[in-house]
Amino acid sequence: MYGYRVNAWGSEPVWDELPDPIPGPNEVLVDVEACSVGLTVLNCMNGDLDNDPQLLPRVPGHELIGRVSGLGPGADPSLMGKRVAAYFYLVCGECDACRAGRDPQCANLAGWIGVHRDGGYAPQAVLPSRNAIAMPENLDPIAATVVPDAVATPVHVASRAGIGHGDRVVVIGAGGGVGIHMVQVARHYGAAVAGFDIADDKLAEIERLGATAVRSDDLGVVDPTRVFVDGAPTVVIDLIGTTATQRWAIDGLATGGRLVALTTFRDRAFEVESRELVFRELAVIGSRYANRSELITAAELVASGAVKPIISEVRGPAEVLDIHENLQAGTLIGRGALDWRQK
Ligand SMILES: [Zn+2]
Repeated sequence: MYGYRVNAWGSEPVWDELPDPIPGPNEVLVDVEACSVGLTVLNCMNGDLDNDPQLLPRVPGHELIGRVSGLGPGADPSLMGKRVAAYFYLVCGECDACRAGRDPQCANLAGWIGVHRDGGYAPQAVLPSRNAIAMPENLDPIAATVVPDAVATPVHVASRAGIGHGDRVVVIGAGGGVGIHMVQVARHYGAAVAGFDIADDKLAEIERLGATAVRSDDLGVVDPTRVFVDGAPTVVIDLIGTTATQRWAIDGLATGGRLVALTTFRDRAFEVESRELVFRELAVIGSRYANRSELITAAELVASGAVKPIISEVRGPAEVLDIHENLQAGTLIGRGALDWRQK
């Protein structure tokens, strides 16, 4: 088969002939229909998650959708022929956290699809059986590409922060792939939502989805008490992760408010006084990816129309690198998708 692979971390993927993948014990072979293209894929290819040269060459792409076309010994036979989404984290399935359904807290995390195993930038992929999550049959494969990360991650955030009716939620960085779906998931759970971003077309999309769009080039001039008519934000979801966004959140949250952190950049520290947290009963919450069960919730939200997949560019394999350019330039609204059915 022909597909893309990364030969050096930090370099563009190269179109090349690849060996046909064969499923081993407890693995499934997937005929890839589509794969989402977002900033995390670029970060993976850049070596940000792991840059061990021993892992190369590697087929990138963690948000893959496809049909199971083969089973290794011991793989779940009920998956045969099913459309599945890939769960991103290579969890063990056996530790206390995994057994409790808290997959991102796995004690034996073995890495990530697209970094430690091959992903969806090739027409076939082999996944551990437990990483193949069956999707509803009525869900279009391109629409489904937002499920395994761009919608599942917001579902996890909503759970971590306890988002519900009466909440006033600010999403900082609301025009990107996770942000634009976070806006919708928070609204679905009953919150009033404001989406912060800096590009006009992204702000227009945020407004079209029923949220308040707020220009946030300079957070210093955004008065947190004026974002919503009925009070300061109760939740701030920070997808940008600068000292300025973190400080704005702590200063601006209502009493009882929660700051949810999702970024993993190094050296982005902020100071918070214990008395600030205590007097206003603030919480700072880290949220990491999603539980496997939350991929099923995410798929139901998309299949039912409660969350609209925002995929602004769909390209066949010959043109997928154009999407990377737009991502790097920050001009892509929501996600892009690689469509393997366009040959
Ligand atoms: Zn585990």
